Amino acid sequence: MKVLVASVLILVGSCSTLRHSEKIDNLKDSISYDNESIVKKYLKTITPEELKIVVEEVSSEKYEGRMTGEKGHDEICDFIRRYYDSLDIKAPSSHPDYFQNVPKEVLPDDLNPSQNVIAYIEGSEFPDEYIYITAHSDHEGIVDGEIYPGADDNGSGTAAVFEMAEAFIKAAKDGYGPKRSIVFLHVTGEEVGLHGSRYYTNNPVFPLENTISTLNIDMIGRVDERHKNDENYIYVIGADRISTELHFIIQEANYNFVNLNLDYKYNEENDPNRYYYRSDHYNFATKGIPVVFFFNGEHEDYTKPTDTADKINYPLLAKRTKLIFATAWYLANSPERLNPEII
Ligand SMILES: [Zn+2]
Repeated sequence: MKVLVASVLILVGSCSTLRHSEKIDNLKDSISYDNESIVKKYLKTITPEELKIVVEEVSSEKYEGRMTGEKGHDEICDFIRRYYDSLDIKAPSSHPDYFQNVPKEVLPDDLNPSQNVIAYIEGSEFPDEYIYITAHSDHEGIVDGEIYPGADDNGSGTAAVFEMAEAFIKAAKDGYGPKRSIVFLHVTGEEVGLHGSRYYTNNPVFPLENTISTLNIDMIGRVDERHKNDENYIYVIGADRISTELHFIIQEANYNFVNLNLDYKYNEENDPNRYYYRSDHYNFATKGIPVVFFFNGEHEDYTKPTDTADKINYPLLAKRTKLIFATAWYLANSPERLNPEII
């Protein structure tokens, strides 16, 4: 009897394994870009030179390290909303000044009220479905009299979101607007505990049930020790935790347009660094939304006053931004909305 049970189990196991691999193959086959030349046209608008201008601005001393609730951070939020206004990218009708106020009650004790900055491009076919591209706008402020510029953390992410927004609005003006809406969300209070994104997901401006995916960027302009001999990489974290399809869409985007080495080291469930839980995408994941976190890993200037704009690898920042843009393009334009399911 024991032997029989064991052999039945083996049979069931091998059948379901086969079905699983077939499902994966079918899923991979279903993901393809039908407009590669158009995507390439707008990828070209994402340039190292333009990214550099934004990183230098965001990390400049005048913003005093952008501590949540301080004057320098308020000023960078104002800079961010003026950028969207200058590109004719809209604010949500419920928040016509682009700001979602984040009240003092939800922030740590000693901080002033702050704000998330929200802009979006409305989808042409499915305007009520939303893709988020997020990056935190705050940093560490001034510590022991020293300004922490946070060029990588998260000037690099802020610049990447800006360049993608510009590329998407150019495409829209040429008649290639996204079918689904794309939300550009710059959250506050990340460094002090992911507060801006937590507040946003508890008080969403667009319905969370219609949120297709959140692509979060936090530090993508530098190279860590593990890759110092091959800089052509990005860590991809969390993409397969809620949607297997998202994991393969990123691979297809990479294969078609960029060819970075996608490093999944920090995506391991038991990774002791626990990066999956440590940036703003996590608050979306807790609501069941498929997320991905793009990250360059830690480096010698991480959370130090030496995280300056001159140390950013701008061609690499551009390449990584292109991967995220191509992923967002697919999510926004695919015939079927992303399947939030693990296969
Ligand atoms: Zn960060």
